[in-house]
Amino acid sequence: MTTIHIRNLEIVTLDDAGTILHDADLVVQDGRIAYVGEAPPDLRADEVVDGSGRVAMPGFVNAHCHSPMTFERGWAEDLPFDRWLNEKIWVAESALTPDDVYWGAALAACEMIRSGTVAFNDHYFYMDRVAEVVRESGLKAVLTWCVFGIGPEAEVGPGLEDTVEWIKETHGTADGRIRTFLGPHSPYICPPDFLSRIVELAHELGQGIHLHLSEDSEQVTQSLERHGMRPVQFVDSLGLFDVPGGVVAAHGLALNEPDRDILAEKGVHVAHCPITYMKLAMVFPPLRPRLAAGVRVCLGTDGPGSNNDMDMFAVMRQTALNEKYLMLDPEALPGDTPLRMATQNGARALGFEGMGALVPGAPADLILVNLDAPHMRPIHSLIANLVFAAKGGDVTDVMVDGRWLMRNRELQTLDEARILYEAERHAQAMVRRGMRQMREYRG
Ligand SMILES: [Zn+2]
Repeated sequence: MTTIHIRNLEIVTLDDAGTILHDADLVVQDGRIAYVGEAPPDLRADEVVDGSGRVAMPGFVNAHCHSPMTFERGWAEDLPFDRWLNEKIWVAESALTPDDVYWGAALAACEMIRSGTVAFNDHYFYMDRVAEVVRESGLKAVLTWCVFGIGPEAEVGPGLEDTVEWIKETHGTADGRIRTFLGPHSPYICPPDFLSRIVELAHELGQGIHLHLSEDSEQVTQSLERHGMRPVQFVDSLGLFDVPGGVVAAHGLALNEPDRDILAEKGVHVAHCPITYMKLAMVFPPLRPRLAAGVRVCLGTDGPGSNNDMDMFAVMRQTALNEKYLMLDPEALPGDTPLRMATQNGARALGFEGMGALVPGAPADLILVNLDAPHMRPIHSLIANLVFAAKGGDVTDVMVDGRWLMRNRELQTLDEARILYEAERHAQAMVRRGMRQMREYRG
């Protein structure tokens, strides 16, 4: 049994009572938290760590992202959504290879660990290659292989039936660190019978579903024309919200009251990605009506083509600021609410049992954040410092299932220098290929 004893810590437990501990111990045994507060006097640890000047908190859970899209960071700037997508994102992605996905996701993994993310919910292509990155990095993830259902030539990589084989082989592997969801892109791209087939498969396989849903009023208008129902009501009529593994719906911005009631009643997790909305100048409402209706809200970075980073501190802070501003209410999303959204709400959405609170028995998925920095002093409120002042670069140490993925800002599992080199090389080659193909196609 491996025992790690971290001493002299400030601890934001995010337990039900919101307990905060000062000058406290945190003991990890065999991948789980054994003691929080005071270690037993006769404890024999394999490793003793001095946590002075650090605050421990649960690691972040990025509830919606497209991690390999790091290769499009800075590639599609200052454009309206349709031009962003058609002239830049699709052009680059038309030349996508499985190797690009591997190096893009590896770059994302370095960035996520460095900024304190312990688990992510990925929605992209060639998820077999992202699974390699998850295995190697020590992170946890739910991997969703995105499928369109509009003909084999439209799919990137194999279609639905082959991704089902991959799900059977992959779900629950890496000691349970890798989980999978079925991944229809969205009801505005996927045909109804294809969505129904996915619902059937989810029941057969005991799987959840991760999709984009009701992102803007245009999608609502289109859905009313095609199906006589709004997107939320339409996918609900197909039984999509009743699948055994739960549903993560990205965005859910254009909702009316009945939509919100359906999402709440069915326990759908809505992943909120405010930096994308602001950068692409999308209309987005405050969270209060969704929260008041009982909708479960978690946070995500979305893809680095539209964010442009994967720093959950930034997303959490942006969420709190937007809510206060949009509601014209400085009391909106008070206290540790944004921290809980960015950690335990995401963990619940991803189905990682017990993650998101530093309590005995929970998996040791935690981060240490540096307090010995000018912007983190004075410490009137650890919570306020974490929500409104901390940055990803303040994370010093990251642990997942009791294993260090970063110690004193040094990555322990990934070869960062090689990943930076290969990710740069693959990203440049990919956009060049994409541009060339587009020129040839247009003649
Ligand atoms: Zn997305």
